[in-house]
Amino acid sequence: MELYALTIHELQELLANKEVSAVDICQSVLDRIERVEGKIGAYITLDKEKALEQAAVADQHIDEGKGGALCGIPLSVKDILCTKGLRTTCGSKILESFIPPYDATAVEKLNAAGAVILGKATMDEFAMGSSNENCAYGVPKNPWNTECICGGSSGGSAASVAADECIASIGSDTGGSIRQPASHCGVVGMKPTYGRVSRYGLVAYASSLDQLGPITKDVEDCAIMLNAISGYDPKDSTSVNRQTPDYRQSLKDGLKGLTVGIPKEYFTAGLDSEVEQAVQQGINLLREAGADTVEVSLPHTDYAVAAYYVIAPAEASSNLARYDGVRYGFRDMEAESLLEMYKESRSIGFGDEVKRRIIIGTYALSSGYYDAYYKKALQVRSLIVEDFTNAFEKCDVLVSPVCPTPAWKIGEKVDDPLSMYLSDILTIATNLAGLPGISVPCGFSGNGLPIGFQIQGGHFEEEKLLQIAYNLEQRLDISGKKPALS
Ligand code: GLN
Repeated sequence: MELYALTIHELQELLANKEVSAVDICQSVLDRIERVEGKIGAYITLDKEKALEQAAVADQHIDEGKGGALCGIPLSVKDILCTKGLRTTCGSKILESFIPPYDATAVEKLNAAGAVILGKATMDEFAMGSSNENCAYGVPKNPWNTECICGGSSGGSAASVAADECIASIGSDTGGSIRQPASHCGVVGMKPTYGRVSRYGLVAYASSLDQLGPITKDVEDCAIMLNAISGYDPKDSTSVNRQTPDYRQSLKDGLKGLTVGIPKEYFTAGLDSEVEQAVQQGINLLREAGADTVEVSLPHTDYAVAAYYVIAPAEASSNLARYDGVRYGFRDMEAESLLEMYKESRSIGFGDEVKRRIIIGTYALSSGYYDAYYKKALQVRSLIVEDFTNAFEKCDVLVSPVCPTPAWKIGEKVDDPLSMYLSDILTIATNLAGLPGISVPCGFSGNGLPIGFQIQGGHFEEEKLLQIAYNLEQRLDISGKKPALS
């Protein structure tokens, strides 16, 4: 197999045995990008020269015996993470020319581990979306069917991994944005517990929900990436000061003694029959592997989308107030007064979906409506947290589909934001409760589109999720299947 098609752990072995160099790997991935990027559009910004330089440094470090955990591994990074000296647009025109003066903590950790950063992956503007169609820099295509969306908002991250345009990626997940595109692109994606990974340098969308996580070719790589980015960071007051386990350690443990909960509300009307079948087959495989299963209830599931689409826009309306044409990025130079400059910079700089969220959020927080919308949504959030607490008394993890349907056609839902929002029903509650969740491929639809299997767990139970996902992956053995992008 070509180097670009390999996983982190496979490449690590080749590097350790000196069978290949980091520059060979980087060149192989850059050639691949050259060949397929025109069809996919996974990147907003590429920095090939810098990548090759980093690869050469990695080779030096390997020679000196001081290579880090990701030494010489080429990655893409969602364009929502600040990268020192490398443009960070967040998919928005308003940050078209923003070059951060510092690295996000996660990026700093990747660099310290010796990773090679290829460039910045495309995304929905400010991470608002489920299809990556809300982007000022074009719509990326699903590598399995280029007429379909690759999911969002970390669409470029998932597409770049699926199309072998990088070895792994980092995305962010506020309501499903790692798990859902991973599911649609047939790769692994994990949203860790809120507080597990530092959000310093992650451009804020909804600060009480945002979390960074890996998107990878298999579960073992997911554990490797999580090892690299996890941990307490004094620069993020919401990061939790707690030991990071070695996520690779318990990966291969069996499932005997684990109880898998099946939330009945996640298998109701609106669920595509092929998705249901693939997930049921996954559940059967977990039973064969020795896990017990039990039906559980998350009674407030129906209210999750409504609560999320008040809370997330409310936080966004406040977070996005900083883009005023003065301090960051785009400024309308034709404005004749300060007020006009603010107004025009924001009107021209933001896309429609972002404006819609700012308006919804501002309305929900305004005096007279705060109690009716924002406070109510917070109350629903508490009930959702309680649902999970009750469910986890009966089981160790919860399993379900990630998205009710496989990837849809580009353009299909753009004029119907509500139907787009509703497709987030199975991923949003995880964020409202701050829990970890993973998507692992579990099959394909009749027309060849990937289907993801979601595992959610209690706070800081990432090890359990990875262990179950690994067992499932081994039993399914579809992780080697690649989209036919020649
Ligand atoms: N689709 C959801 C939204 O548009 C989630 C996005 C995300 O997780 N960043 O808000």
